[in-house]
Amino acid sequence: MCPGHVCNSAEHFDRYGEPVTTLQVHDVTHRYGQRGRTVTALDRVSLDVDAGELTAVLGPSGSGKSTLLSIAGGLLHPTEGTVTVAGTPLNELRRSQLQELRARQIGFVFQTHNLVPYLTVRENLEVIGVLLAGNRGPTTVRDRSLELLGELGLADRLGHLPAHLSAGESQRVAIARALLNEPYVLLVDEPTASLDTTLGAEVVKLLVDQAHDRGVAVVVVTHDHAMADLADRRVHLRDGRVIRSDPRPDPPDGGNER
Ligand code: ADP
Ligand code: MG
Repeated sequence: MCPGHVCNSAEHFDRYGEPVTTLQVHDVTHRYGQRGRTVTALDRVSLDVDAGELTAVLGPSGSGKSTLLSIAGGLLHPTEGTVTVAGTPLNELRRSQLQELRARQIGFVFQTHNLVPYLTVRENLEVIGVLLAGNRGPTTVRDRSLELLGELGLADRLGHLPAHLSAGESQRVAIARALLNEPYVLLVDEPTASLDTTLGAEVVKLLVDQAHDRGVAVVVVTHDHAMADLADRRVHLRDGRVIRSDPRPDPPDGGNER
């Protein structure tokens, strides 16, 4: 179930050989301080995402969705509570270890796609890939970039600059880039905000496929209920609290449609 190249360690399985839940957000509260005034952005939120599962986080603007994503990805330390990625509690890591874990095990796609404007589509992936390659050489990075871009329907856009891409295309480049390091966890903030419904559904479908095929734990933040219907699970936030978490669908023999 785990991404192939990293799934060689006993830490991803419990003592019964069952996969450990890839992302565990446990009882997280987050408060922002603002000139003596505090805003409670998250209030005792818990969320578990298994490998191969896509969870949609839904909620109105200001309900804490982006804060939850930042905390799940170790970009922001929660005021209270813990986050565990593939068995590693983030709060027990030193700064450098956390950076390493983020680079290797977590992929982010932010609302603004943050592509480097003067690099082509292909170069946008390769630059990041070479930085993360470690003992996998640059040739592997190049092959893998081409493979991913092809898979995401961008084979004929390799030499384009970001300014010459449509919104849907740059969204897909950002997704390809986030998948390049074969992360355990992929965190995506409002992928559909800048897209129309058809394109948005395509992007979410693509993310569902990536989760299922590669065994990645994917969390997608959206305020679009139609998009969320494609998810394996839906978590509804309101004022920093989980007000509803739709149960996991039954396994395939129990009438699951996917
Ligand atoms: P969403 O992504 O659902 O729109 P956010 O996580 O961005 O929600 O914000 C949740 C709450 O926290 C909001 O009330 C927002 O104003 C507040 N907030 C977010 N970021 C900050 C910050 N850096 N400083 C202070 N308050 C913040
Ligand atoms: Mg947000």
